[in-house]
Amino acid sequence: MDHSVSIRDLSLSFGNVRVLEHLNLDIGQGEFIVLLGPSGCGKSTLLNCIAGLLDVTGGQIFISGKNVTWEEPKDRGIGMVFQSYALYPQMTVERNLSFGLRVAGMDKKEIDQRVKRASEILQIEPLLKRKPAALSGGQRQRVAIGRALVRDVDVFLFDEPLSNLDAKLRSDLRVEIKRLHQRLKNTMIYVTHDQIEALTLADRIAIMKNGVIQQLADPHTIYNRPTNLYVAGFIGSPS
Ligand code: ADP
Ligand code: MG
Repeated sequence: MDHSVSIRDLSLSFGNVRVLEHLNLDIGQGEFIVLLGPSGCGKSTLLNCIAGLLDVTGGQIFISGKNVTWEEPKDRGIGMVFQSYALYPQMTVERNLSFGLRVAGMDKKEIDQRVKRASEILQIEPLLKRKPAALSGGQRQRVAIGRALVRDVDVFLFDEPLSNLDAKLRSDLRVEIKRLHQRLKNTMIYVTHDQIEALTLADRIAIMKNGVIQQLADPHTIYNRPTNLYVAGFIGSPS
């Protein structure tokens, strides 16, 4: 199987409320997929299922060909970046980056190399000795991305990583995330409700409504040939 991530007939309910409905999605190796839809449509829920932070109600999830539906999050080969930065406030940036690797028992030399490489890529080397309180929002989000980066995972999951930032920073970091993807060539699954982010970042966009994917296609097709009025209205095509 050459899919990086495959989602098969996935359903998820919170109590009696069905949030994801028999959802199927195949993501290619190195593909940048954006899950786009309004607040409450189930984007985070889907991402959290892939990450292993929620138990599915039905269906399967495969990562790199392996059925991970009931694997622990740490064993799935994924790195996740959230909207809120979730940095450890008492630790320096360097510690924030290395902490997970230390816990996993990696040797110091390897940790140092990975921290160095990630901080070069994200241009946060001058910040390594600072604590999160002394960073701007954009810098914090870079560190959060760095924490996923040092783990050297195949699949990155982003949940609205830029939505707490102002417009200028958002567009700067958008460019950086795009560059990061071009450099690393790993698989990215990126959740947003921002149409511009979706259109500029994605290889393919999955438009969601009420836990169902309405259309899955490249940005050009989504924009110019929406399959239904919902997609057309949401992506804001002038036609
Ligand atoms: P999105 O990320 O697209 O904004 P979510 O995946 O967070 O949407 O939520 C989808 C739906 O599931 C919403 O109706 C939300 O209220 C509901 N929901 C999310 N998390 C929980 C939870 N832990 N318990 C009950 N309902 C939840
Ligand atoms: Mg969400």
